[in-house]
Amino acid sequence: MNLEDRIKQAMVDVYDFPSPGIVFKDITPLFQDPALLNDLVEAMAEACKNERIDAIVGLESRGFLLAVPLSMKMNVPFIMIRKEGKLPRECHSISYDLEYGSSTIEMHKDALKPGSRVLIHDDVLATGGTAEAAAKLVLQAGAEVAMFQFIVELSFLKGMERMLPYSPCVTTFARF
Ligand code: AMP
Repeated sequence: MNLEDRIKQAMVDVYDFPSPGIVFKDITPLFQDPALLNDLVEAMAEACKNERIDAIVGLESRGFLLAVPLSMKMNVPFIMIRKEGKLPRECHSISYDLEYGSSTIEMHKDALKPGSRVLIHDDVLATGGTAEAAAKLVLQAGAEVAMFQFIVELSFLKGMERMLPYSPCVTTFARF
């Protein structure tokens, strides 16, 4: 079975979570299959072998899970983007709209060196609002978005279109 089918087979659709009408893509079973995880992290590293990547940025919280092993494999720093009020030192900060209401995410001001080329990783690309806000934080820090990587893409929500102005290089490993 190819990697995409293995990921899809491991994931579970949870209907009406966290609210009615939403089909939540539960990735937690992937983490019970070390061989699959290992192959996925290998594929993530392979997908950026022709890019210069100076740092991996992971989005709270499920985006942290594979951003860390990828950063270790690529021997580059891992940097966390967290929800407002969680990081203890001076931060770049950005607010963005959600379907209902808004959210704010932050990154330490000294986390990225200006000019560094960054890979942004999260578990699921849905509308793209979160990853777009993360890209804006990376730009605020004077760094560049080299590429995005997501485990899962919900292509019917067209989040990909919001990524492309920041980087033409967007890799997703299982598409719905
Ligand atoms: P968005 O900003 O709409 O692209 O949403 C991305 C964030 O929300 C990611 O961090 C995902 O973890 C989470 N998310 C959004 N929709 C879903 C879904 N249907 N299943 C699982 N996670 C989701």
